[in-house]
Amino acid sequence: MLRNWLNSVRVLKNMNWRLFKTFNILCLFVLLTSFYPFRPGEYGLNKVVIDAGHGGKDPGAIGVDKMKEKDVVLDIALKVGAKIKANYPNVKVVYTRDKDEFIGLSERANQANEINADLFISIHADAAGSSQAYGTETFALGLHKSAANLETAKRENNAMLLEENYEVKYEGFDPSSDESYIILKLLQNVHLESSLTMASKVQDQFTSIGRRNRGVKQAGFVVLWKTTMPSVLIETGFITNTKEGRFLNQSANRETIANCIFNAFGEYKTDVDLKSAPTSTGQNKNPKTDTKTVDTGVRFRIQVASSPTPIKLDPKNFKGFSDVRELKVNGVYKYTIGNERTFEEGVNLQTSVREKGYKDAFLIGVHNNKRISVSEAKSIIKKGSK
Ligand SMILES: [Zn+2]
Repeated sequence: MLRNWLNSVRVLKNMNWRLFKTFNILCLFVLLTSFYPFRPGEYGLNKVVIDAGHGGKDPGAIGVDKMKEKDVVLDIALKVGAKIKANYPNVKVVYTRDKDEFIGLSERANQANEINADLFISIHADAAGSSQAYGTETFALGLHKSAANLETAKRENNAMLLEENYEVKYEGFDPSSDESYIILKLLQNVHLESSLTMASKVQDQFTSIGRRNRGVKQAGFVVLWKTTMPSVLIETGFITNTKEGRFLNQSANRETIANCIFNAFGEYKTDVDLKSAPTSTGQNKNPKTDTKTVDTGVRFRIQVASSPTPIKLDPKNFKGFSDVRELKVNGVYKYTIGNERTFEEGVNLQTSVREKGYKDAFLIGVHNNKRISVSEAKSIIKKGSK
């Protein structure tokens, strides 16, 4: 009798444990699905293209001890890619070249465009007439602000002269003519803000290891112009400077440089992933009936583009959307869709805007015609409805 009773207790205990486990798994499932109503890998930074400059018949710059830019940058590029692969197994890493071969500038960009990459990182090393020049700089596409920046772009763009039929391929763009670069000013660069963010993270990393920081810059690099995603061109140092050239000529130092680029990539990816993750809409489904809905003037809009120059508010410039507004933030024009009163409406709109092709579109708050964060917007509404 006693044994029977003990047995039933054991069975009951086991059953409870099983039930408890099932309950836990169910809870976890509900929790996960309510916060992440999307397939993993659908949003955020999942594909990166690493572009080692020059190659094959194009040696790039020739530095001290006859070192060639194409060799230095290929090694750094492969090291960066290996680090990303090892640390972010879900990120697809594509090299425009992984050996010593010549690849045209537009081909490099096309490789990134074809796979719909989320980020394009072009790696180069600098050269100057004066062996005194040294330091690192990272570029986003744009109009140069100094003659030196224009010269860097010209020198890198000269690679296109080695391509067959380059006049047709680049629509008459002449890499040695100043006028060609003025035209680039008129081009829309919707990814400027993201590109500049990545560029400054790279420069911060270089600074942190004691490399000279020549800054984040803009210039008309053809390889960046042809890409359709955030893109940067990194000048990892002057190989024409004896000290810096010899620094870059050593594998261990190239490893350090690669680490900087990898760290910047990691920080940038975290930002992008956070910004593009859909926010949970499961909360506040049953707001208290006693809260009055006061219009605080706060609106939620979906940012789809930013540009250094104004973009005409024409639906054909915005994938057919007509409800587009312009907002100037720190000298950069931001373009948004919608003007929703509640956070929930904003999130719903964000989903449909992303579905219609703006996969990186994100929610912002607007108050008194100024951009504010979503949490600020929510807190103003909360205070207003008390
Ligand atoms: Zn180069």
